[in-house]
Amino acid sequence: MCAAAAKMYRPRNPEASPFFRLVREHFDAFERQYGERFQPKYGYWRPVIRTAIDKYIKCGDLREGFARVRCPDCGKEFFVAFSCRQRCCCPSCDQKRALLLGMRLAEEVLARVSHRQWVLTMPKRLRLFFRYDRRLLGKLCRLAYETIRDGLRQACGAREGEPGYVGAIQTFGDLMGWHSHIHAIVSEGLFRRDGFFIRISKVDMERCAEMWRERVFDLLLREEKIDEEVVRSMRGWPHSGFSIDNSVRITADDTEGMQRLVSYISRCPFSLARMIKVTEDGQVIYRAGKSECVRFPRPGDARLREGVSRNFQVFDALEFLAEVTQHIPDKGQHLIHYFGWYSNKERGLRKKREASSQAKAGGENAEADAFIKKRRMNWAALIKKVYEVDPLRCPECGGEMKVISFIEKCQGEVVEKILRHCGLWKDAASRPPPAVSRVADGEPSYDYGYFDRVCI
Ligand SMILES: [Zn+2]
Ligand SMILES: [Zn+2]
Repeated sequence: MCAAAAKMYRPRNPEASPFFRLVREHFDAFERQYGERFQPKYGYWRPVIRTAIDKYIKCGDLREGFARVRCPDCGKEFFVAFSCRQRCCCPSCDQKRALLLGMRLAEEVLARVSHRQWVLTMPKRLRLFFRYDRRLLGKLCRLAYETIRDGLRQACGAREGEPGYVGAIQTFGDLMGWHSHIHAIVSEGLFRRDGFFIRISKVDMERCAEMWRERVFDLLLREEKIDEEVVRSMRGWPHSGFSIDNSVRITADDTEGMQRLVSYISRCPFSLARMIKVTEDGQVIYRAGKSECVRFPRPGDARLREGVSRNFQVFDALEFLAEVTQHIPDKGQHLIHYFGWYSNKERGLRKKREASSQAKAGGENAEADAFIKKRRMNWAALIKKVYEVDPLRCPECGGEMKVISFIEKCQGEVVEKILRHCGLWKDAASRPPPAVSRVADGEPSYDYGYFDRVCI
């Protein structure tokens, strides 16, 4: 099979990524020096960092195993590498996850109403409690929900009704520094028990910001992170440092706008495109997201020594790794939460009810079905734009590719034999495995996301 198809393969080349090289060359030193150099600022070493990075370094590497896919119509074949599926340290997997989340929201979660993006932040002084005690992040996401729900209820004088809420915990700011805050996609109004939607276009944002502030204080008081004295003094600040914004609105049919928003709220803490230079000794020049142009520093430039400018920040290799890896979530910690009308419980109940009423009434939901179908098509178009090709669609004849087998790493010799035969084998010397691997590998997971990179 390989001889003819080999010419068409183009495996992804993770080594070309500046972040990959940084990890390969400096991660062991980072782990060794962590206690002394980084612990005071970033907290105790979390073993999840090593686990995630060990997996990241194998992401998209065909030698770690792959799926063989084949077009049943014309016989074209290629390989799709396994992906690491790590969060917040693999830009490729984060991008893929955002697309899958967008699809899930469009197909299973979001009602056909307009939504708003809510952003809720807190003052710097309080953010650190969330870095050292990450359990609090989930609670913060619920507080954000309760604040928005009550803001909407007050706006229409209702005592009941739930908004649909998808909340994303984000822990980073523009230059990767710790900045715990919440982004949420929220229906522009409340759902009554019977499913009737009350649209609410105007909410008292000042009142919401006040509720948000008091709830965050209550949480931190309950958790004994702060005392009444701190609260009293912070209430006296001329600018409270708590903010709420809901100015971005997405209409019910704007699939593309929704996908952009989903990609934004579930993005990787750093962007490869903004790592504009990595010097020989691993110094990273990182561009701020908002700057349009970058005045590139020359060696010896005072701005390089100062490390900070308006447009970019300079990190040494280990600092950069510290900044990125602080955002890797703990094992089992969810970054996306569903509350109110979109909570798993509510959706489960509705599904049950719909199934029984559909059985009685026959095709009454045809309109809703058509809407879902259209959204699915829009989503497929978006995927196409990002990946340039349909996932699992044959680039030769457009047929649907089928997975015909998985070649896993435990079949080591087979992997090597096939890859050598296809001219895809790379010697270990060209990509050494991480020096220490303390964690047993989990099951490799098949994911079609690498399609674009594996085939031409
Ligand atoms: Zn990955
Ligand atoms: Zn084909």
